[in-house]
Amino acid sequence: MMREVAEEIKEEFSKAGVDIPVDEIEEKLRILVDKYYVPLDEAKRSVANSLAKKYGVAKVVGVSETLEKIADIDAPKKWVNLKGKVVQIWKSESDVISQVGLIGDESGFVRFVKWKSADLPDLEEEKCYLLKNVVTDYWQGQYSIKLNRNSEIIPLEEDIEVASQEVVKEGAIVSVQQGSGLIKRCPMCKRVIVKGICNEHGKVEGVYDLRIKAVIDDGKSPQDILFNKEITEELTGISIEQAKEWVREYLDPSVVQSEIAKKILGRYFVVKGSIVGQYLLVESFERLGGVKEEDVREALQKAEEMLS
Ligand SMILES: [Zn+2]
Repeated sequence: MMREVAEEIKEEFSKAGVDIPVDEIEEKLRILVDKYYVPLDEAKRSVANSLAKKYGVAKVVGVSETLEKIADIDAPKKWVNLKGKVVQIWKSESDVISQVGLIGDESGFVRFVKWKSADLPDLEEEKCYLLKNVVTDYWQGQYSIKLNRNSEIIPLEEDIEVASQEVVKEGAIVSVQQGSGLIKRCPMCKRVIVKGICNEHGKVEGVYDLRIKAVIDDGKSPQDILFNKEITEELTGISIEQAKEWVREYLDPSVVQSEIAKKILGRYFVVKGSIVGQYLLVESFERLGGVKEEDVREALQKAEEMLS
């Protein structure tokens, strides 16, 4: 089978006037298929592309070069080509990954991971690229793409209009998770620290922060959501100063988490924000049903004033 495909590729190149030994082609196919488990038709395309580059052939007839829309990615371990604009790059915290980021096209967004072993140039934010021979992956309910040593990055001059990143979710808060409330971050890398120790920087003087990790459920699927300090204060009416005071008073940081839970657990909200990894980072919210405590207090106060 591998031999036949090698013959097919050889045939295509000979049409373009280039004679490539069939053994060379077969050897390349074998590496991809046997060592990297690349499906044969993808391997065929990849090998044809790399040979075209090596032998200076602009285009090989008969080898498909279809582009996939990001929203159409619907299976893991698929080799795809796609065009997109890099909208965000995060610092990689792994020794084997050189870059992690988010790339988008008019249909949607997908997280990308570039392996160090791929030995590819770095992608830049706000730039557009054609990514060839990247592999899809699926983890924790989200698709991603991986750039490996068979992938190719081609910078594009054109600008790609990307889809709106805003996500709106309406539902009940069904869980307030561990790690919510008053936390301490490393002053250098901003990672959450435990008992004054940062994984990267050792013993550090932590900086207080307030956040909520929660789950909202719209009845169709649960979504992990994150509220930063500002939104947490607005949502709960609990300021970071108040949170610090409670912790001092009760000598127990979990008191903040339970106070937060009392205010939002089981309540309905509309949250808006952007998806980063598994989280929806909440940028704004709206309460649904029920009334705000402040409104009740205000109404009572008004009523009292009117009566007095
Ligand atoms: Zn640190």
